[in-house]
Amino acid sequence: NLQKQKSVKYPNLDNYEVLEHMGEGAFSVVYKARQLSTDKLVAIKILRKFQMDSAQKSAVLKEVSIMRQLHHPNIVKFIEFIDSQSYYYIVQELAPGGEIFTAIVKYTYFSEDLARHVIKQVAEAIKYLHEEVGIVHRDIKPENLLYVPIEYTPSKNPIAKLRKSDDPNSKQDEGEFIPGVGAGCIGIVKLADFGLSKQIWEQNTKTPCGTVGYTAPEIVRDERYSREVDMWAIGCVLYTLLCGFPPFYDESIETLTEKVAKGEYTFLSPWWDEISSDAKNCVSKLLTVEPTQRYSVTDFLNDPWLNKLSSVESKVP
Ligand code: ADP
Ligand code: MG
Repeated sequence: NLQKQKSVKYPNLDNYEVLEHMGEGAFSVVYKARQLSTDKLVAIKILRKFQMDSAQKSAVLKEVSIMRQLHHPNIVKFIEFIDSQSYYYIVQELAPGGEIFTAIVKYTYFSEDLARHVIKQVAEAIKYLHEEVGIVHRDIKPENLLYVPIEYTPSKNPIAKLRKSDDPNSKQDEGEFIPGVGAGCIGIVKLADFGLSKQIWEQNTKTPCGTVGYTAPEIVRDERYSREVDMWAIGCVLYTLLCGFPPFYDESIETLTEKVAKGEYTFLSPWWDEISSDAKNCVSKLLTVEPTQRYSVTDFLNDPWLNKLSSVESKVP
């Protein structure tokens, strides 16, 4: 019955059975759905065209054209775009775990191992975007970091593989639940929401977007530093994963803006007392005000803390 209501509410979704609500954003609502032709579970981001102006509509089309180009294990895959009279539907790979944000709330904060496991995967996605596709995400935050829980992940997953070899007797097929996990890993992290992302160069030609030669210096300069915004955001996410609250916060938007502009944050006691100095050092290399001094994604992937071996089994988040 509910299903019938949804199919009336959301026309032109003939190939899908709309299931439960997964989340929402400013202009969107996202549902889990079953693709009837394949019997596969997907996520459908539904955007109401009513009250969208033409700039917002073209932003949706841009989001779709960006998503179409992306093929990476840590990025939500694009499946199909449906343009109906009242709605845009962006059909995507489902991340059944939902938001990392919810997991932080649930655990309060993550162990260093779990934080590393999560942020490394985000960095892999960003490395691909920055260095292979020429795209800046521009909206990295815990709400846009989703995950496929370990029990959903096929045996191709390196973490799952590691666990299998740990126990030679364990049988493990696609989608099988792997007992005893959860301490040092959460599953496969998937970067979502390309609604604010921007192409800074063409993928094939590796040349800047827009008319080369006529671009003003301030534009060229800005585009040069635009990738660094993602690295700042990764710093904010990493800080939050480690202690459970964000590096910059204030009731007043003016004060908050000022704090961010000056890069005014602290490793607040007692929450940060037990956290390693390597972790703090890594965070501070990301939360560097001057973009030229800030860690690039490659710098970050080479960071000593990020490359420490996890004592996966021993810690509970
Ligand atoms: P918006 O641009 O409106 O923020 P998002 O693409 O971020 O839209 O989607 C909104 C929310 O819907 C996300 O924060 C998340 O909770 C949920 N969501 C989005 N995509 C998926 C997905 N592929 N799998 C599971 N949940 C999703
Ligand atoms: Mg979002």
